[in-house]
Amino acid sequence: MARILLVEDEPQMQRGLRDNLEFEGHEVSIEGRGNNGLQTLLRETFDLAILDVMLPEMSGFDIVRKARERGVRIPILMLTAKGEEIDKVLGLELGADDYVTKPFGLHELMARINALLRRSNPGRLSAEPVMLLGDITVNFSSYSGSKNGKEFEMTPKEFEILKYLWQHKNETVSRDSLLTNVWGYDESVSTRTVDNFVLKLRQKIEDDPAHPRIIITIHGTGYKLIA
Ligand code: CA
Repeated sequence: MARILLVEDEPQMQRGLRDNLEFEGHEVSIEGRGNNGLQTLLRETFDLAILDVMLPEMSGFDIVRKARERGVRIPILMLTAKGEEIDKVLGLELGADDYVTKPFGLHELMARINALLRRSNPGRLSAEPVMLLGDITVNFSSYSGSKNGKEFEMTPKEFEILKYLWQHKNETVSRDSLLTNVWGYDESVSTRTVDNFVLKLRQKIEDDPAHPRIIITIHGTGYKLIA
């Protein structure tokens, strides 16, 4: 478990990132404005900070620079917008440790965060998020899965879909929210893509993929993972 500060002004990003970080077992504080973000970063103790670049009142760059000047040593990950190549260089020069470009997949982001946390504090990360369901075991950190003791392969996207459904087990998850949370904001992906991935996923985890009992279809809406 790590304490993470997220400074981000878009409510949808705040929610998505918080849900995923909390699912990974982290404790998340959120600030939406640059100056509040800096104050919180200076006042409280965190293991890692995630800073959006474009923020009201004070940019993520200014936060990094000022925080480093005042002796904040924790890993800092910047969220930069597409096309702002210069931002990456500037962010790293000012003292950020890594950056992720929007739109990003959550898999990539979580991998970067975990790498930064491991680097700054090896051995500290707690129990890995695991799905145990009937004869199925899936470890979302090591990206491994087995059914009835037999390992099966999944693509990163399949893992992410399953993970999202598992995070929202017994709830109806719309195709749109799967799209947003697994693919980010990639407009080239359609809800049909989601359906195709779910079909593949069922072939791996369902006893009878033609009559799914784990990931069921909610007609006209999306899917529900029954646990
Ligand atoms: Ca922003």
